[in-house]
Amino acid sequence: MKAYKIETYGKNSEKFREAEDEIWDRLEHDEDIEILNRWDRIFKSGVRKVKKVLKEMGIEADIEQVNVVKCVSCKVYVIEEDDYGTWVEDGYLCQACEEYERTEPPATVYFYNDDEYEEDMPYVVGHYINETEGKFWVSWVRCGGWRGYYEAYSDEYEKIHDDGILAYSEDAEELENFDEIMTKAMKKAGIRFARVFTRSSNVFFMGYELWVHKDDMDKFEKLKKLLNEAIEKYRNATRFTITALTGKDPSECTEEEKLWAIISGMILDL
Ligand SMILES: [Zn+2]
Repeated sequence: MKAYKIETYGKNSEKFREAEDEIWDRLEHDEDIEILNRWDRIFKSGVRKVKKVLKEMGIEADIEQVNVVKCVSCKVYVIEEDDYGTWVEDGYLCQACEEYERTEPPATVYFYNDDEYEEDMPYVVGHYINETEGKFWVSWVRCGGWRGYYEAYSDEYEKIHDDGILAYSEDAEELENFDEIMTKAMKKAGIRFARVFTRSSNVFFMGYELWVHKDDMDKFEKLKKLLNEAIEKYRNATRFTITALTGKDPSECTEEEKLWAIISGMILDL
């Protein structure tokens, strides 16, 4: 979309900044100008009126025609040639929103034994960016207030293990061992599988899931025993519950804390 940008230099920039609120007020309310982005000084149309107001206020300015795009996520208009965002399925995603999706992705997927994807490379699944081409997608599950977590979905893959990483805990170390064994075995067996990490509102908790391609589920049958053994050996439900609820390793908890955590875990169905 074509729009216009107000450009000022030197002393005029200073004058503009000092009178900024008044300028926008007059343009918007008296002159009926649609301001698209105050920060970037972009407006939709009405060059003559804008020039008139600025002149009345003693500001010399250049008015440039620019191409603007509206971000699908934050709904802010940005100048297309100045913004390093990206085009996604739903429209344009501005640079700031893209950066956010990539640094705090709702889910990160790692594919194995699949020619279409590089092994051990993270593929981002966000609200607007989906590097798995729709093989996986996410939705936010609200647990009240701002709290919640992302849940992953897939039509092509089937979830075989659902777990969580409790940051800086013994339980997380044991999960690493579990992950190593399963990853190694499935890689060797030539099973197409994916490791999926999902974000939650709690910075100390991240979802960890193993998914197997539906066409390879028969191959996976042979590893079911190994999965059960690995769960038995490394995934202790009581330890997980105690750590999740107290934020401590069981060895650091008093008997009372442990008991409280186990009872709460039963009530919360952890
Ligand atoms: Zn944006």
